[in-house]
Amino acid sequence: MKINFLGGAQEVGRLGMYLETERAKILFDYGFKPGKPPEYPLAPPDLDAAFLSHAHLDHSGMFPWIAGNRKCRLVATPATKAITEVLLYDTLKINAAEGWTSPWDKDDLKQYLHDAHPAAFNGDVSVNGVEVNFHSAGHIPGAMMSEIILPDGQSMLFTSDLSVRHSRLVWGAHPVRCDILAIEGTYSGREHKIREQVEKELLDKVDEVSTRGGVAIIPAFAVGRTQELLLTFRDAGFNVWLDGMGRKITDIMLDMPDYLRDSRKLSSAQHRVSVVQTDHARKRAMKEADAIITSSGMVEGGPVLSYINHLKHDNKNAILLTGYQVPGCNGRRLMDTKTVMINGIEEKVECEIQKFDFSAHAGHSELVEFAKNCQPKKVIIYHSDDRAPLAEAMRDFAEEVVLPNNGQELSL
Ligand SMILES: [Zn+2]
Ligand SMILES: [Zn+2]
Repeated sequence: MKINFLGGAQEVGRLGMYLETERAKILFDYGFKPGKPPEYPLAPPDLDAAFLSHAHLDHSGMFPWIAGNRKCRLVATPATKAITEVLLYDTLKINAAEGWTSPWDKDDLKQYLHDAHPAAFNGDVSVNGVEVNFHSAGHIPGAMMSEIILPDGQSMLFTSDLSVRHSRLVWGAHPVRCDILAIEGTYSGREHKIREQVEKELLDKVDEVSTRGGVAIIPAFAVGRTQELLLTFRDAGFNVWLDGMGRKITDIMLDMPDYLRDSRKLSSAQHRVSVVQTDHARKRAMKEADAIITSSGMVEGGPVLSYINHLKHDNKNAILLTGYQVPGCNGRRLMDTKTVMINGIEEKVECEIQKFDFSAHAGHSELVEFAKNCQPKKVIIYHSDDRAPLAEAMRDFAEEVVLPNNGQELSL
């Protein structure tokens, strides 16, 4: 068997792992790296099948390209398919607005939506002698790990993005015994704070902001983070408003309750917030809200920019970031320089700015513990800017730890 990372090996973003046996050519994930302009993975050869782990664009964003350019079997959970439909149409809009050439078009996207076969947790698909079983990856609703059984009996687990702890939204992933473990390493060398502590700090900060007469703007990724936040605010008694794509994604998740830890809680959490659907409501939110949860999470577009534009001069207000801020994005700019780019103009922001760690990825020790319990002989680490700390920890129990680079073919 050979594998080749077409992207996303020594970086977070544009992941694609190509796997080839004598008879099967299979791709696991195929996304792009959001940026200005976006970065794309290398092209795969002809394929028999492509498996999509979850909806995030760094994993899913190039599936329409596959559908349009490589006639093959496409497999994703129904939740992933439904969420990607929203994200991918939005991607086309963003590309058009920013003037970037998209590697795929609306017809390719329609083809992807037509072709994608549903995958079920604990179900399997076989491709020319390779069997692929699906397990929940935690992370976000619908996220799956692929357990790959090769014709010679060897097994490999491709985790993709992984979370082992139970969040308010989804249950954590369980280890799967395998010979080769291909594991993500986003949090290599870094640990998370206890989630309850982070939630308390966020709620305390919103309390402080509202007591001093300000509004807390909470930029949040539409998929996963928005729903976590709705659940966090559910019993806190604040006047919370929800704006942007997160609303639509929450509805999709509620339509597929099996992927959620507690769909009734999420449903009641959504009912307790005021939903912004008009400009008039947006103005009301800025006057009345204690907190406004809105996309985009990296402050790159969506309603969050209009809130910041209106509220930026008053230092009673706060911007509370809840997710990873990629270097170069507006959210990172806010943290580093207290400025944002709005319509091409650099704007000074007087609001208080703070970041909270609501990550949906396993932290360093959680990755090590998970890997140990999979009992692999060989570990392959990808989806990370700094794999060394994780590699060192994994060498304690694995015979071999491999850190591939993009485009480097490995025989296993
Ligand atoms: Zn993800
Ligand atoms: Zn990812």
